[in-house]
Amino acid sequence: MEVRRGLEARHGIEERLDLYRRPEVRRMLYGMLSKGDAEFDVSTSTLLGSKDQALAEGMEKAGILVRSSSGSIVKDPATGRSMFMVELVCPYCKSSSITREEMLEHRDCGFIGRLSEFTVRGNRLYCPRCGRPATKTSIRRIGIWFRCRRCGQTFHKPEVAIYDPERRSAVPLEQLEIVDRIRYEINPELREEIRPILDLYSTVESRLSSMGFSLEPLGSIKGISGVTHEFDIMIHAEQVSLGIDVLICEDQERLLQSLLRLVTKYFDLMGMGVRVLLAVAPRPPSAARSMISSTNLGNLIMAEADSISGLMKETEAKLTRLSPSTM
Ligand SMILES: [Zn+2]
Ligand SMILES: [Zn+2]
Repeated sequence: MEVRRGLEARHGIEERLDLYRRPEVRRMLYGMLSKGDAEFDVSTSTLLGSKDQALAEGMEKAGILVRSSSGSIVKDPATGRSMFMVELVCPYCKSSSITREEMLEHRDCGFIGRLSEFTVRGNRLYCPRCGRPATKTSIRRIGIWFRCRRCGQTFHKPEVAIYDPERRSAVPLEQLEIVDRIRYEINPELREEIRPILDLYSTVESRLSSMGFSLEPLGSIKGISGVTHEFDIMIHAEQVSLGIDVLICEDQERLLQSLLRLVTKYFDLMGMGVRVLLAVAPRPPSAARSMISSTNLGNLIMAEADSISGLMKETEAKLTRLSPSTM
């Protein structure tokens, strides 16, 4: 039992909330929920960028994301880049000035030649050997042939050359490094938790925006003690500011601890023109209630529910009753 509680403490919802409250985490999760997954390059460059990669690694540590599968990409170690242009070049003289043409066989006479060798009259093709029309049934596609404009050679398969458009130079194939590619997906066990939490934040944000407030995600303000306090979302009206916190806990013990920490923060902001809306789930026990009421926090509004979706409705209802004048 002790072990399980230890695990919960490390992988509990409180720790994940520290990430969920960050707007960039919510953006990434929304994107992943709509697409199903996301891919990241373990190297510090390309694809989704190093910032997103560091974020994804943090989310993996917290158990929000899991690595699902990996493949590889190529990278030029000299530049760190993985985005290249592919050039098709002549295998004889390495020129990229090549043309690509379809090879056709005229079944009636056995002539084999390039499409451009056939004569076009009106919208019909005529065989250059026998002069008869090349119809759908009398013509057979043989394949693609390439011709080098520089040396005049024709060939089946051009060589592939990798070209770095930024450096404007070719990159030798043997110079390229193979780098693991990591694919992350949302931990399936947390899908039921993530969607309602994202909805909770987006409901609060859109409600406040529709009331005409401009939002400051992770806004901060200095308390009487000189300590700077951060809120999940802050809004500033003419006379007062409103800070919004979301607190979701798995067990009552943790809930009490977190509430105590928050009450201390709110107490430090009393008389500073800051009102606070605390959205908390589950409903705090009576001991917590009496602790809060004994502090006489005049600046605190609480939205409480026993489920995250219930909390969303409750928080929205509390916000609806607020207006710039009643704040
Ligand atoms: Zn050539
Ligand atoms: Zn013919």
